[in-house]
Amino acid sequence: MRVFDNVDELRAWRDPCRAAGEKVGFIPTMGALHAGHLSLVKRAREENDRVVVSIFVNPTQFGPGEDFEVYPRVPEADRALLEADGVDALFLPPVEAIYPEGAQTGVTVSGVSLGLCGESRPGHFTGVATVVTILFNLTAPDRAYFGLKDYQQFAVICRMVKDLAMPVEVVGLPTVREPDGLAMSSRNARLTPDERETALALNRGLTDAEEAWSAGEREPAKLEGIARAALAAAGIERIDYVTLREAETLAEAVGAGKAAVLLIAAHVGSVRLIDNRTFRT
Ligand code: AMP
Repeated sequence: MRVFDNVDELRAWRDPCRAAGEKVGFIPTMGALHAGHLSLVKRAREENDRVVVSIFVNPTQFGPGEDFEVYPRVPEADRALLEADGVDALFLPPVEAIYPEGAQTGVTVSGVSLGLCGESRPGHFTGVATVVTILFNLTAPDRAYFGLKDYQQFAVICRMVKDLAMPVEVVGLPTVREPDGLAMSSRNARLTPDERETALALNRGLTDAEEAWSAGEREPAKLEGIARAALAAAGIERIDYVTLREAETLAEAVGAGKAAVLLIAAHVGSVRLIDNRTFRT
């Protein structure tokens, strides 16, 4: 595996791949890798000639008072996992390689960025869309892989790629969970054992609501109430949102016969967790 911290060297590796007609799959990450990330790597391996992973804890997608400083950083362990999984190139840029001095340009997606995490984390999706654009420009992938655990992020990236005619195929893959149902997240490493137990309530709430949906319940307030009850039973008080949306558009009204997605963002101790479940008709 080649490891680059430098844009010129990355390009010098990337350009001949392109000239040779090789397809490149790209997975942007913030590191502290787990099986969720590796599921994206695996799919990229299957579908492309070359796989590039980036690890960059992007300062512009964290708000003041968020967890940028304490976000888990384990580059050596990450590197070993990626090497073992047959990744061709790892891009580990310093901040200056991504944001030139005096940078003044950002990418803002409207509509789909506005509610949910866009509301509880102002500026977050502009940070995400901007860094993903820069990383796409640097790695020039044919395909890019994202997890549906970050459901709204995936919707934002799809919208951006479409609106700006970016020549990248965006692939979204299902959430990988721990055996007890907790959605894998780099932030789980920051949970105490008790908090980790409490955090199971997110998946429990989604599962309870899914059962109600399967039994025919379609009233958003009822489904949201079921999920909220699971959070309350676990003692989770700081909830950013529990909301049922149309799966495709994230619109508040779910059209008859349309798939829905129930999305949760809640704080367990000092850790903000998100999870979601898609309900099909
Ligand atoms: P992050 O390192 O948190 O920025 O995540 C990098 C990519 O991995 C994003 O596309 C995430 O949606 C995806 N990802 C994170 N956790 C999971 C998971 N549990 N299952 C599948 N994909 C995930």
